[in-house]
Amino acid sequence: MECPSKSTRKRQIGYLLTDWFTKNRRILPWRTNPSIYNRLVSEFMLQQTQVATVIPYFNRWIGQFPSIEALAQASEEQVLKAWEGLGYYTRVKNLHRTAKEIIKKLTNPDAIEPDIYPQTPEEWKLLPGIGDYTAHALASIAQNQCVAAVDGNVIRVLCRINGIQQSFESKNQAVKYIKNIAHFYIPFGKSANYNEAIMELGALICRPKNPICDRCPIVLHCCSFQKKLNYLQIPKFQKIIYVKKTAQRIFICDGQFIILKKTNTKRLYNIFELPLIDDIDKKMFTQEIAKINRSIANERIEEIISKPKYLPKDLKILTQNYPDLIFLSIYELKNITISGPHRKWLDKQLLAYL
Ligand code: SF4
Repeated sequence: MECPSKSTRKRQIGYLLTDWFTKNRRILPWRTNPSIYNRLVSEFMLQQTQVATVIPYFNRWIGQFPSIEALAQASEEQVLKAWEGLGYYTRVKNLHRTAKEIIKKLTNPDAIEPDIYPQTPEEWKLLPGIGDYTAHALASIAQNQCVAAVDGNVIRVLCRINGIQQSFESKNQAVKYIKNIAHFYIPFGKSANYNEAIMELGALICRPKNPICDRCPIVLHCCSFQKKLNYLQIPKFQKIIYVKKTAQRIFICDGQFIILKKTNTKRLYNIFELPLIDDIDKKMFTQEIAKINRSIANERIEEIISKPKYLPKDLKILTQNYPDLIFLSIYELKNITISGPHRKWLDKQLLAYL
């Protein structure tokens, strides 16, 4: 079967998707109250994090910082603590800076919501942490401008319905390619619904491994389905080569006090984590207590956690020789922001060693 003619097909697909979305969309807190601020917060949280994880964080966040003004006035400690566990802390620092910049540019204090925000994707992109995708998502979904936001779901759906079988070197290359065709599908005046619809279809129906084609509203227009292409392999990406690394960490705790490290890297600035063995006297006798594997981007990291066989008499003295290390009481742990995996290790595995 040939693909339906392109001129009618794209328009039909756009309308079918928005109709389907109106009846089938998930109820999500940022959709229930779709203010631009709520969308801004949800877009930052949803970068690299799944919807189910984001929902409780989003609800707590809106309770604590209900408006862009409230967020702009909050301290860095407050926003980091509210974000703790979501990871990728650069996002929250950028969200905080973005809120401050929007409020700083506000010349009329009585301006109502839409007027205080950037009005085009190009203007959104001038704010911290807002890249091409987020700028287009905010302009289309929050402001109904006729632009297309292209994420992994959109790439997959548009590649499949168009039967695009070429291999892409990276997601960025695929985004550039798909962007050229994505906006032709937007039905007149329905940009917000259309952009959410195609992402929702990718999340619920046209899934990476198990697409549910018999429930797909555009099955009759899908080249991959109609031509029986192997759509599980569409889009094709060249294989990522993972780099293997090992990190040796040390868990120094005497039951009442613990030693952590306040990181100064750009990504984790002012966040606490378990020190690396290199941060302390390497002559200290240690015993391995846990091995944890995790992935960050294209790195597979084996984290080996050890504890000292013999503790120094006074932990505080130990930190005096190592300025990067911080001496904390166990009770202070709940008030500081610890990087996501380290908080999980402490709460789930290392508590037994306190
Ligand atoms: S028919 Fe199947 S492969 Fe095609 S867009 Fe729908 S779910 Fe995806």
